[in-house]
Amino acid sequence: MNSFSYMRARDVAQATREGAAGNVKFIAGGTNLLDLMKENIERPGRLIDINGLPLDRIEETHEGGLRIGALVRNADLAADPRVQERYPLLSSALLAGASPQLRNMATTGGNLMQRTRCHYFYDVATACNKRRPGSGCDAIGGVTRIHAILGTSDQCIATHPSDMCVAMAALEAEVNVMGPHGPRTMAFADFHRLPAETPHLDNNLAPGELIVSVELPQEGFSQHYSYLKIRDRLAYAFALVSVAAALRIEGGRITTVRVALGGVAHKPWRRTDAEQELTGEQANAKTFTAFADRLLNGAKGQGDNDFKIALAQRAIVRALTQAADGVPQSQTDKRIA
Ligand SMILES: Cc1cc2nc3c(=O)[nH]c(=O)nc-3n(C[C@H](O)[C@H](O)[C@H](O)COP(=O)(O)OP(=O)(O)OC[C@H]3O[C@@H](n4cnc5c(N)ncnc54)[C@H](O)[C@@H]3O)c2cc1C
Ligand code: SF4
Repeated sequence: MNSFSYMRARDVAQATREGAAGNVKFIAGGTNLLDLMKENIERPGRLIDINGLPLDRIEETHEGGLRIGALVRNADLAADPRVQERYPLLSSALLAGASPQLRNMATTGGNLMQRTRCHYFYDVATACNKRRPGSGCDAIGGVTRIHAILGTSDQCIATHPSDMCVAMAALEAEVNVMGPHGPRTMAFADFHRLPAETPHLDNNLAPGELIVSVELPQEGFSQHYSYLKIRDRLAYAFALVSVAAALRIEGGRITTVRVALGGVAHKPWRRTDAEQELTGEQANAKTFTAFADRLLNGAKGQGDNDFKIALAQRAIVRALTQAADGVPQSQTDKRIA
């Protein structure tokens, strides 16, 4: 075990000031960070416990949306009646993740920040550019069943493992952060990064910046949505492919469409150009199939994960069909159960 010091932050200003020093980590639920510390992957010299900060509330915004504090637990967020009624896509995605015990601890901010589940990242005996920049990537040419098919680089082919973030990407949430130089807001699409030449950077937070909340806009797509998660077993497993689909339909035609994919890239994957092309079309299998082709344009398997391309294609069409029919996957699950 590496030694580290520990402090409880009194307020956000103190947390960001202390957090800007080198080799410091915030700790929230600890469900990811503590595992990484035990495996010697993260070795912070100092932990700043943020659990005492007043960031555990869900509040209405002036724009008619919801502001979710960074410390709101995944279980509480999924169970909030406003989220269930107005943003059922988010609630479904949260309930598809982890286990009840983990969701009781896991926080909104921590979920955004959770690190990849690439096996090589977790094995310090292997080369990994994300863990040790410049050391290489043993996943490339290795066992790649869980790896990315979109947005990869020759430095890293890892995926982002979150379910919650896939729904938030489709809902076009915003991330509010506070740093040593003040507050700023990032569009959800700009929060996470693709690996490119810097796979050690998962996101665009600057040192010391703390996520304080995530804001949902008014539109929650509560009539036509579906979160479909395909995984190796029905519970307690990360997505091989997941799809967050949200539609507005008038007179059989699509007026708005948002689709984000999980399990396929280093960040939730969206193509707004493909969404534009589906807008105005009829909601049917033919237009959904053409959309899936566009969304997956450029997808490339690594061998073991070639199956993800066809799987994603079918999952996109199925999720959009469920959303259009008003029978989301979460209701289908209940009917099967
Ligand atoms: C066995 C297992 C299965 C899981 N399955 C799933 C799954 O199916 N789907 C899914 O989506 N997730 C899954 N998870 C991941 C889980 O959801 C995350 O571990 C959790 O959301 C992280 O939140 P936390 O509060 O525990 O973060 P912590 O472990 O406390 O922190 C994680 C990281 O976030 C940083 N951090 C935390 N809060 C903030 C903040 N406010 N601002 C800036 N940085 C911050 C920390 O410094 C750290 O780097 C699983 C986890 C486990 C252990
Ligand atoms: S895919 Fe990324 S996380 Fe996995 S070994 Fe390669 S560099 Fe590391």
